[in-house]
Amino acid sequence: MIEVRNLTKAYDGFIAVNNISFKLEKGEIVAFLGPNGAGKTTTLRVLTGYFPPTSGYCEIGGYNILEHPLEVKKLIGYLPETNPLYEEMTPREYLSFLGNIHGIKRLSHRIDEVSEQLGIRDVLDRPIREISRGYKRRVGLAQAILHDPPILILDEPTEGLDPIQSIQVRELIKELGKEKTILLSTHILPEAETIAKRIIIIHKGEIVADTPRDKLHEISGGETIIYAEIEGPTDIDWSGIPDIIDAKIVKSIESRHVWELKSHTDIRPQIFKLVKDRGWTLWGLESKHLSLEEIFAQLTRE
Ligand code: ATP
Repeated sequence: MIEVRNLTKAYDGFIAVNNISFKLEKGEIVAFLGPNGAGKTTTLRVLTGYFPPTSGYCEIGGYNILEHPLEVKKLIGYLPETNPLYEEMTPREYLSFLGNIHGIKRLSHRIDEVSEQLGIRDVLDRPIREISRGYKRRVGLAQAILHDPPILILDEPTEGLDPIQSIQVRELIKELGKEKTILLSTHILPEAETIAKRIIIIHKGEIVADTPRDKLHEISGGETIIYAEIEGPTDIDWSGIPDIIDAKIVKSIESRHVWELKSHTDIRPQIFKLVKDRGWTLWGLESKHLSLEEIFAQLTRE
């Protein structure tokens, strides 16, 4: 559905995106993950036809984006980094305006449908300037899906939202992902991991990793750290779980002990089984995510 081949984009000689290539198959949800200034927005802007690449080739739905910009625009819904919403309009007026540009038939029915899907019915007739950021982002998503495109390109969809609004918008995106191909950019690692099954990491304009979500820790060469709070002995023999490379108690409250276990894989099921088999009590079991900074540090280590 999306193909990017040797894409480079320079601004006045400064190379923001340097010779990157990737492909998205139909139905994939892929997170484009990187810190501020990595080149995410630049790549998405090239893909959506906002400006041309300096060099390289991009194709959407089989169309070369430079030769067939109109066909490409029909295939994609784009949520830009900052919502270009007309603040004095109501969401209904804004969506009607865009729907007319797209030539959508039975537009008021379609606006009702999309409003229902994105939970914006209550604010449809209030001026956009009066509604919360979370609702504005939803209205932004509504404009992106209004013409029912098969591909969504979402630039930092939860930027500026509070934690609850972010969770709601992520849920919406996952829902939309059931029937669409989605490329979304984010600088939040847990967001990428919650929404996408595949993660492309971009750093200083270059792709440093392109991997299924659950392999991210493996390719970064990182360890998984697991905290297990167990009511049981202080001298547990962990050698039955071969993947464990280190185990120690980091906190004790009476007979409950928090173990910090390091491993190259997620061994939570084995820990659970061991505790159950021995008749101890498991009060907590969680794996610590490496932060994006820690993963970058590992991926870009000389
Ligand atoms: P952010 O999360 O901060 O939006 P990003 O990964 O989306 O970051 P880009 O916005 O693509 O990164 O920017 C990549 C680099 O290109 C940055 O160094 C940025 O300063 C530079 N850049 C972006 N837009 C322009 C522009 N119009 N003119 C000059 N330089 C630009």
